Amino acid sequence: MIKVVKFGGSSVANAAQFEKVKDIVNAEKDRKYIIVSACGKESFEDHKVTDLLYLCDAHIRYHVSYEELFQQIENKYRRIKEDLHLSIDLDKEFASIRNAIEKAASQDFIVSRGEYLTAKCLAEYINAEFVDAKDVIAFQYDGNIDLQKTQELIKKINTNKKIVIPGFYGALPNGIIKIMSRGGSDVTGSIVANVVDADVYENWTDVTGVYVADPRIIDNPLGIPRITYNELREMSYMGANVLHDDAVFPVRAKNIPINIKNTNKPEEPGTMIMEDCSEFDKKDPPHIVTGIAGKKDFTVITLSKSHSSTEVGFLRRLLSVFEDYQISIEAVPITVDTFSIIVVSESIQNCLYEIVSRLKNEFHPDEIKVEDRLSLIAVVGRSMKSVPGMSGRLLSEFGSNQINIKIINQSADELSIVVGVDNKDFEKSIQCIYDRFVLEEKVSV
Ligand code: ASP
Repeated sequence: MIKVVKFGGSSVANAAQFEKVKDIVNAEKDRKYIIVSACGKESFEDHKVTDLLYLCDAHIRYHVSYEELFQQIENKYRRIKEDLHLSIDLDKEFASIRNAIEKAASQDFIVSRGEYLTAKCLAEYINAEFVDAKDVIAFQYDGNIDLQKTQELIKKINTNKKIVIPGFYGALPNGIIKIMSRGGSDVTGSIVANVVDADVYENWTDVTGVYVADPRIIDNPLGIPRITYNELREMSYMGANVLHDDAVFPVRAKNIPINIKNTNKPEEPGTMIMEDCSEFDKKDPPHIVTGIAGKKDFTVITLSKSHSSTEVGFLRRLLSVFEDYQISIEAVPITVDTFSIIVVSESIQNCLYEIVSRLKNEFHPDEIKVEDRLSLIAVVGRSMKSVPGMSGRLLSEFGSNQINIKIINQSADELSIVVGVDNKDFEKSIQCIYDRFVLEEKVSV
């Protein structure tokens, strides 16, 4: 069995966290490939190393001294070295980073140093082999990962020890360091899991898996024991902050489950993310609702025009106006002769009046209305389709809680029902769905 394990920034924020990581890694010999983020915040007032490195880079670009910021980063690693009695030559490491900076190092190089240094310290501490991501994570020039080359490079690693690889970056074919987008260590872990054909990809963080609902809204929400990749995609699209979006594809391509675990509570099972949960669901029926996620601040532009519903191409022409402004559309509920276009308010704020006046001039509607402060809430659950009357019950729950529903949308696969309510009803809506369909009900399949 091969496990790829990734530790996020909070799992390596200081020496005490390093100790927990060591215990976790040593607890199972299968935990062979270890991917690590840069040190995260130790406390609320502290800063993530990657954020400090981005700030250093901005200072360098504007010729402002970066010394004070860099010192904060140095201090963090020196403290870890001292507390863990490491022998890593940090003077040499920092001198070489400064030297690269003097020679106009790229932003990608500078911000990747957090992962690089954290991985070096961790490898020494757990007596594992440090393998630089620039030598094994291969980017193509178009910015995509070259999985085949990455696989060849990782297969060439010759050691009996466990392997520590920094997350978040790799190298272009010419050897130049290239980073991923923020949170990219999740992606590195997933890529490594893919190329080594791991049995599981463990993603260790500071929460006990994926929660049914946002803990900022629901007090102590239940964790989700199992969730499918499709359900997770629905939830993250609607705002649940779980994994980097690009981290699912590489493991999903090989049907490798992801296990989200808590470094601070390793005994808890966390959340398993997989293609198909049905085998497990038979033994342990899940809740009707797997998760609830939502976002505030959408704008709805509603256009009504007699006979437009029978006019071929009307909707396409309507949507193309939004496309001209590069506005992504969230949903398009349609009734007879009335079309509502829902978009993220922020994305349209600079061109809303222009769009509305174009719609008036080009479509001559009978009426056009703009409403903002709309929230969308996705109620997600693989079991919902086996429960007749589910949407009716969901809607009546809103009714009995005096919440006015403005929009309803159910995907054809019945995996999610999206409900639009006024921003002021957002939290209350989530709470009532949670109480009724998560705390009260389970389903048998
Ligand atoms: N350190 C990087 C960031 O803060 C990458 C990561 O943590 O995954 O975005």
